[in-house]
Amino acid sequence: MDKIPSFQKNHDLLQPGFHFSTLQSGITTYDLRFKKPNAGDFISPAALHSIEHMLATILRNSDKKEDIIYFGPMGCRTGFYLLTVNLTYNDTLLLLKKAFTDALNLSEVPGAKKEECGNYLEHDLEGAKKECKLYLEILESLDKKILAEEREKENIAKERR
Ligand SMILES: [Zn+2]
Repeated sequence: MDKIPSFQKNHDLLQPGFHFSTLQSGITTYDLRFKKPNAGDFISPAALHSIEHMLATILRNSDKKEDIIYFGPMGCRTGFYLLTVNLTYNDTLLLLKKAFTDALNLSEVPGAKKEECGNYLEHDLEGAKKECKLYLEILESLDKKILAEEREKENIAKERR
């Protein structure tokens, strides 16, 4: 079997951040890396689950909701994938900064009732907010050089199509 693109990436070099991953069939996949891989610090399963509910709800209620295809957790618990259409890296970064700020103001996890969720007891609103706050700081601290590199990856992928 072929190695898929996300396994081709050298995880030893992967830093927390907001990474352009792939562009396929018009759908862009972003790697929202909260944690440095294999560094002993992972998002707890309950916080991971709650962030999925919180961000999926916020993004699908945003003014870009038509452009959101999917938001979900990485099994390794170091981050999330976001799949979009029609949005640039810059558009998506702005959207995420607002979405994670909104997440900090939630007073409950959306869709966390028994009839709405497959594991409704495994949630942690405060733990999720703590992780969202840390990730927001990562997004705010991305410097010009990193942003230019990510936009370059996006441009190369668009040219290849
Ligand atoms: Zn759930």
